[in-house]
Amino acid sequence: MRIVMKYGGTSVGNAKRFLNTANIAIDNYRNGNEVVVVVSAMSGVTDMLLEAANKSLKGEDIAPLINDLRNKHFDACEHIKKAELWKIAKDGINTLLVDLEKSLIGVHYLGELSPRSRDRIVSFGERLSSLILSKTIESLGVPSDKVDAFYLVVTDNNFGEAAVLFDESYKKSSEFLEPMLKKGMIPVVTGFIAKSKDGDITTLGRGGSDYTASIIGAGISADEIWIMTDVDGIMTTNPKICSNAYTIPEMSYLEAMELAYFGAKVLHPRTIEPAVSKNIPVRVKNSMSDSSGTLILKDTTANHKVIKAISIVENAAIVYVSGAGMIGVPGVAARVFKALGDHNINVYMISQGSSEANISFVISEKDIEKSESALRKTFPTKDLVRDISHIKGVNIISAVGKGMKGAVGTAARLFSAISKDNVNILMISQGSSEVSISFVVSKEDGHKAIRAIHKEFLE
Ligand code: ADP
Ligand code: ASP
Ligand code: MG
Repeated sequence: MRIVMKYGGTSVGNAKRFLNTANIAIDNYRNGNEVVVVVSAMSGVTDMLLEAANKSLKGEDIAPLINDLRNKHFDACEHIKKAELWKIAKDGINTLLVDLEKSLIGVHYLGELSPRSRDRIVSFGERLSSLILSKTIESLGVPSDKVDAFYLVVTDNNFGEAAVLFDESYKKSSEFLEPMLKKGMIPVVTGFIAKSKDGDITTLGRGGSDYTASIIGAGISADEIWIMTDVDGIMTTNPKICSNAYTIPEMSYLEAMELAYFGAKVLHPRTIEPAVSKNIPVRVKNSMSDSSGTLILKDTTANHKVIKAISIVENAAIVYVSGAGMIGVPGVAARVFKALGDHNINVYMISQGSSEANISFVISEKDIEKSESALRKTFPTKDLVRDISHIKGVNIISAVGKGMKGAVGTAARLFSAISKDNVNILMISQGSSEVSISFVVSKEDGHKAIRAIHKEFLE
């Protein structure tokens, strides 16, 4: 079987975890499988790199941060037992850190941190971890090498959240990785990072290593894609929010997509798409335990629960666009959403008042300024759109499950469960696929709402 295994930051959080991860990959390889590993930066490193970028911009001293990064990665090499491999890893770490320092100094002197330089700076996290993991595997006796995903994944140049050019990425992944597999190697690919057609380093959005695994899996026609993380698979909700959450053994692609799209951090929102295109099963498993995890397939056998899982998007905002002049004027909504689309703003939910005098939609808080300025450019005078306003700090809660399809009364049961806890609902939307219901509440009510729905439907 050909398996692409992705390991998140906690699975390479220290030397012991690197060893554990290397051993899982090797066990599967020795059982006769072809294994490609995709790896994230060590936990905390992407945030440290972003902090370093911001510090450089402000002219602060970044030497201590670089030192911390060096120590953290050197410590992680503890289980590279062969001296020559240990040396390759340490020299490689030093070379990468010198390169990182140059990029940071550039930011400092220019006094400017563009999205392009930010992507270049955060790319070092995965480049460091993939080097250490491949040398750890090699020191355990299996040929391995690190692969920078910029040779495999091609994107546009929307830095920070670049869009993948699939055909090219699939072709490159297969051309680059298949010969390595034929030679009996375990390639260790950097997650999260890619290159644009113009040759600039790009990233796929926070948590993007899951997506890398799926893109590569589709590119080399893997039999399975494994997302190895720090929990026992996809659970009924985030166990950090609700201690009664438990693992879901099987989900459909559609359910997993809805859940990931609406905030379940365990999967990057776009992870499932490439897998769907090639009908590849995705497993989500704990890298620290033997539990069987969650299997995501095209279709699943019946599950009698109406709602299978609940997710949350935090730090969202509702934007209100209104004006009496909008009534009866065709095309206003189209112009609103075209303006947002042209600026790469992701809209989670939409609602239009029946009077046609207002449209409201939900976006990520970080996009408020960008969306309001895009809308003002589209509607420069106040005769059509008079007011554009927003509420920040809201949560989107989504209940997902294909059992909802045609199950009369689910919404009533759900809203009655949360109203008992005095949760005030700001907006509601039902997915057209009927596998999800989403609603918006203030951030004070978000976790309370999740626990109430969990109790009503899943306990
Ligand atoms: P990794 O570093 O392995 O990519 P992440 O932190 O990105 O791991 O994702 C795993 C985390 O996702 C879990 O620790 C958990 O807190 C969170 N999470 C959110 N929703 C869910 C869910 N429905 N099931 C499991 N984990 C979830
Ligand atoms: N290292 C990146 C992040 O922290 C990507 C990932 O972990 O998947 O967002
Ligand atoms: Mg993740």
